Amino acid sequence: MSHFSYKNGALCAENVPLTEIARQFGSPTYVYSKAALVENFSAYANACRENQRDASTALVCYSVKSNSNIAVLDLLSKLGSGFDIVSGGELLRVIAAGGDPSKVIFSGVGKTHEEMKLALSHDILCFNVESTAELHRLNEVAGEMGKQAPVSLRVNPNVDAKTHPYISTGLKENKFGIAYDEALTAYRTAATLPHIRVAGIDCHIGSQLLDDAPLLEALDRLIELVDRLTQEGIVLHHIDIGGGIGITYDKDKPVAIGDYLGRLFAKIDKWRLHQYKGKPIQVMFEPGRSIVGNAGLLLTEVEYLKHGAAKNFAIVNAAMNDLMRPAMYEAWHGVQPVVQRVGEQKTYDIVGPVCESGDWLARERSLAIEQGDLLAIMSAGAYGMTMSSNYNTRGRAAEVMVDGDQVHLIRRRETPGELFALETLLP
Ligand SMILES: *Cc1c(COP(=O)(O)O)cnc(C)c1O
Repeated sequence: MSHFSYKNGALCAENVPLTEIARQFGSPTYVYSKAALVENFSAYANACRENQRDASTALVCYSVKSNSNIAVLDLLSKLGSGFDIVSGGELLRVIAAGGDPSKVIFSGVGKTHEEMKLALSHDILCFNVESTAELHRLNEVAGEMGKQAPVSLRVNPNVDAKTHPYISTGLKENKFGIAYDEALTAYRTAATLPHIRVAGIDCHIGSQLLDDAPLLEALDRLIELVDRLTQEGIVLHHIDIGGGIGITYDKDKPVAIGDYLGRLFAKIDKWRLHQYKGKPIQVMFEPGRSIVGNAGLLLTEVEYLKHGAAKNFAIVNAAMNDLMRPAMYEAWHGVQPVVQRVGEQKTYDIVGPVCESGDWLARERSLAIEQGDLLAIMSAGAYGMTMSSNYNTRGRAAEVMVDGDQVHLIRRRETPGELFALETLLP
């Protein structure tokens, strides 16, 4: 169910009218629904439970980069989530939010020496290693610290996720992961390194997948590798299938999480040959978008209406620096008037004030709006705030989380002075 709906003609987040949020916190503001977050995480947790999985045989590691606000991380951590991070900064966020480092896995192609040290000092669950060069560096860093680094190799299963090229990561030509044909050799190398402990295998083939077939195909390919490794005496503790399940932006119909996980666990159960210390292999997931995407919207106000010869523009106070996805991937976001008006609808491009033609949030939308109206840019909970910038010296949006009839400010708006506070004049 949607936790953003109209009540008496006004769009609400749970029980709170967005007009009230704009009055209290201004705009642009990201608005998240706590109930939606809980519901989306629970879809994963419930499916694990229904398939007789406990924490030792299934672990959801929320992808921090999709929405890294510490209030979001805290909530998910309390629901039992682990975390998939891609930088040292994200690890510090997880810790600041009260997350458990022993449930953290570290992905990414470019981990630095410093980031490895930081993660090792917090005894994270696993490093998802993306190259042999990284394996050697990690072995060295762990050696300096007198530790053993738990690793999983990110294998590129070479399956087509059939999604936007910028968010497709599982094909041969992508920069991610170790080529499938080189994985065995890389594992043999890993097994000989004294400060590396081989723990698992992982992949992440792309994002905004509506169908689970490519994920299940990737799982088959990982299973083949695990069997080969077992024959060689390299026994893995976990198999991590990555994230990637899509959400409804427009008319998209993503597979239900329960159906996907049901099919996935059925494959694992059928396999079952693989045991680690007498237990079935632990399955991990790294979902981001499917947990936060539809749990958030971006609230913005119409500054001007501009009726041109060829087009009508609604110039709003949110811009590409607040929500990059349209400019970057031509992504489609729903646009809803916060207060429904009766009146003539016109077709508008919804654009921001930034000096770029790429600064648009939505195109050709039929709306009856006036200057000063509030609009909600829907499905903006994932890769919204985390991809925002200060381009044009624009302070980043505020973020609030609604819980029933309560609104909590979880990040205050940046002030212009803060934006250049780290800069200095020449002597
Ligand atoms: C971004 C990312 C995810 C999350 O992807 P979603 O499509 O948001 O579920 C998971 N794993 C890795 C390695 C990623 O880079």
